[in-house]
Amino acid sequence: MKFNKVLEDIKIYEAGKPIELVVREFGIAPENVVKLASNENPLGTNPAVAKVIADNAHKAHLYPDDSMFELKAALASKYAVQENNLIIGAGSDQVLEFISRAVLNENSSVLMSAVTFAMYEIYAKQMGAKVIRTASYAHQYDEFMEAYRMHKPRIVYLCTPNNPTGDGTSKEEVLAIIHAVDKETLVVVDGAYMEYAAAKDANYAISPNELLGFENVIYLGTFSKAYGLGGMRVGYGIAQPELIHELYKMRPPFNISTLSLAAAIEACKDDSFVKESIALHQEEIKRYEAFAKEQGFGYIESYTNFITYLFDETMDSTKIADALLKRGVIIRNLASYEMNAIRITIGTTRQNDIFFKHFLEVTA
Ligand SMILES: *Cc1c(COP(=O)(O)O)cnc(C)c1O
Repeated sequence: MKFNKVLEDIKIYEAGKPIELVVREFGIAPENVVKLASNENPLGTNPAVAKVIADNAHKAHLYPDDSMFELKAALASKYAVQENNLIIGAGSDQVLEFISRAVLNENSSVLMSAVTFAMYEIYAKQMGAKVIRTASYAHQYDEFMEAYRMHKPRIVYLCTPNNPTGDGTSKEEVLAIIHAVDKETLVVVDGAYMEYAAAKDANYAISPNELLGFENVIYLGTFSKAYGLGGMRVGYGIAQPELIHELYKMRPPFNISTLSLAAAIEACKDDSFVKESIALHQEEIKRYEAFAKEQGFGYIESYTNFITYLFDETMDSTKIADALLKRGVIIRNLASYEMNAIRITIGTTRQNDIFFKHFLEVTA
């Protein structure tokens, strides 16, 4: 059986390990597993949203409203944009897929930071496009512009704040890159963690309506992180109507479920759950910073709901991640990104206590 040649060069996306795997492989009771690996909201699902999902269960036989009118209206008002600036995806991941299919082919290239969201590369390679990376994980203007001039990529990915490193790029730097590239290059501003960055430092807050003046820029947002709806798979893109119109040609019908749609609409109604989540996060991340300092290793200043710990040669991220996993603590090893580092989603106070305790034991 022959497959498309482009598949030869694609590594299958590796998601954070699920709780079920730790239960199965190490015989740990599910209630004792602490999952800090996928940047999910540790406060769980907003109870008001959970109720709406339950209340809509009897409508599972109905296709959702394919116009997504109500959700678009809610997002349009949240961001002060128009409905025709919006496209909804099954996670912002699906919008990334639409974008890649709309603009890439085997003669094109995409530009991204040295260490960033793995799906940019996978979608690009599916289209046979070439992946160009800058030298560092930070989104530095000089590095991006040098590579841009050399390769003339069709897409420039600016993941801010960046995953899996957690660093942010200021609005000023993002706008500088946007101004410097020509209109034939699409700039994707991936704001999956923007709620956390905006709460931390206003200079890092990018709101999509500030980008609407550019015909070649799209902003991506998601309900999966601060909104605590990773399991519902809802994300969106915001851009000029002409760009959105082209992306719609890639969209399958009913691309999010009836329950996901109801959940996202409800989630837009009340900001208090997101505010509470961010307040908890801001308290707890201080403990992670203090812990790294006490233990004498480095970390990347985080603008997200996770923190990346950087180890020197006296510590090994793979050994640490494996030892933690056996104890039921799931974090992300960044060895596959060629970094001796681990990424930890900031959990609840209790979850974080458990992490610190086991970390001390496995590194003793
Ligand atoms: C989580 C994440 C996404 C998309 O998540 P969805 O669940 O597909 O909405 C996009 N970009 C980055 C950088 C992420 O971390």
